[in-house]
Amino acid sequence: MKAIAVEPGAGEPSLVERPRPEPEPGEALVRTLRVGIDGTDHEVIAGHHGNLPAGADRLVLGHEAVGVVEEPNGTDLDAGEFVVPTVRRPPGRSNEFFERGEPDMAPEDEYFERGIVGAHGFMAEYVTSPAEYLVSIPPELAELGFLVEPISITEKAIEHAVATRSAFDWTPETALVLGNGPLGLLTLAMFESVLDIDRTYCLGRRDRSHPTVELVEDLGATYVDSRETPVSEIPDAHEAVDLVYEATGHAKHAFETVDALAPNGVGVLLGVPEPWEFEVDGGRLHRELVLHNKALLGTVNSHRGHFEAAIDTLSQLPEWFTDELVTGVYDLGEYTEAFKNGDDVVKTAVEFDAPAGGF
Ligand code: NAP
Ligand code: BGC
Ligand code: ZN
Repeated sequence: MKAIAVEPGAGEPSLVERPRPEPEPGEALVRTLRVGIDGTDHEVIAGHHGNLPAGADRLVLGHEAVGVVEEPNGTDLDAGEFVVPTVRRPPGRSNEFFERGEPDMAPEDEYFERGIVGAHGFMAEYVTSPAEYLVSIPPELAELGFLVEPISITEKAIEHAVATRSAFDWTPETALVLGNGPLGLLTLAMFESVLDIDRTYCLGRRDRSHPTVELVEDLGATYVDSRETPVSEIPDAHEAVDLVYEATGHAKHAFETVDALAPNGVGVLLGVPEPWEFEVDGGRLHRELVLHNKALLGTVNSHRGHFEAAIDTLSQLPEWFTDELVTGVYDLGEYTEAFKNGDDVVKTAVEFDAPAGGF
């Protein structure tokens, strides 16, 4: 079968031949339909994040997948059922985090991530997975099933952010998303149409003609260009906000977030930056967090419950939004297009196969 693999840091992804996997007991065989690409894939390709499976010289990419069960292999799944796989797997043997159903809370060395850390991903014509890591998705959502994984990341982030504010009466009226990449835009849409936040802002560094800026404004949010208005000046230029969601991977934004927050606000950090040394006024940061009851937290990955919530969220996102967000779904024959970062690219996916009768 065909798969898309990369030698991290040493080149572009390429099409490789691999044996079709055989499901072990408890695993199903899944025929891959579509696999999305995000900023993390580009970080993996560049060799800035993730690592190879033991003994491998290349990594099969892909962690945002949707497929169809080909062989249930004695599991509770049905042949023909549409499924989305979760990303984390136990690293050889199980541990308390997987046993509790909270693999997203496992520390490094206690997990593999398919397509990212120590395990091959889903960019292959067939993949196997234990049934417990395959989440059923209704057929009508399968076409966009590759958006479930990134949405699940925000489901978790919102859950954790809200949990930090649960000790008092907190109703966020304003929110700021840092980053107009696919994760930032999906999150903005969730803030607008699912969380019903009154006023939203989204930070980017593109001219107004860029399709993401149009998307931001069509969602009813205010676009903030970081070249004109740095994050720490947003309270003066616009207003301080109750919730900040960082999805740029720009390390200074983690600290500037504290300035952008209103009293009692929470900032949630998603980016995975490279090491970068710069000066921070630690005293002011510390004082600001304490005297205004602010919270700053990091969050990574998501568990099965977040995937289930994400499927529900996907069903609520406006069709015009997903139509504009997904700028390209490319057949395997033109998979290189899906990895390009052009001016008209927002979110792309590779299509390995379509269901019988099409999407
Ligand atoms: P992406 O496509 O790389 O998007 C990042 C966006 O941030 C880009 O649109 C980029 O703008 C913008 N940006 C970067 N620096 C900026 C600055 N100084 N001012 C304004 N805008 C800036 O990545 P993504 O897929 O949306 O993901 C976002 C981040 O979250 C990445 O760092 C990714 O690794 C991380 N992530 C984390 C998790 C998790 O579980 N924690 C999950 C998924 C993704 P340009 O396009 O103009 O450069
Ligand atoms: C993936 C997560 C993963 C994170 C860190 C993200 O792009 O969506 O599932 O935990 O990268 O590797
Ligand atoms: Zn991702």
